Amino acid sequence: MQKECKCGQTMNICLRSVIYQGKVEIAHVPVLTCESCSRSEVFAAVKPDMTKLISQLGNKPEKQYIRFEEISEISHLMVTVTDKEHRHESVGVILEERINELLDMLLLARSLQDDAWKRDVTERLSQITRYAMSTYEMKL
Ligand SMILES: [Zn+2]
Repeated sequence: MQKECKCGQTMNICLRSVIYQGKVEIAHVPVLTCESCSRSEVFAAVKPDMTKLISQLGNKPEKQYIRFEEISEISHLMVTVTDKEHRHESVGVILEERINELLDMLLLARSLQDDAWKRDVTERLSQITRYAMSTYEMKL
């Protein structure tokens, strides 16, 4: 999960709060930062979720606090990974556990014929799949 900065140094990924329009605090956003030149950017894999959130908030948002992990599965996974209780587990194990959890939820949503919930779980699963693929690519 590392990327090279324009200055040549390695950028590190961390969870940051992002303030939107001076009013909305979006917590736990995965951000890449460079210690050497202080450049930072939103982690590419969460950009679609961030764009969607910003468009929902609009130009004149109310003052509010949003937990990005409730919207983005990648943020959720990173919060889990950095959580003390899960420190000893590898990202792969956490990823697998979360996928199993979501598949159980999907089964439940299907049996209850809850379409909104089904769509939500399916969207979360596709976020994870995209993320799993992007981390795999980065290892090459
Ligand atoms: Zn840099």
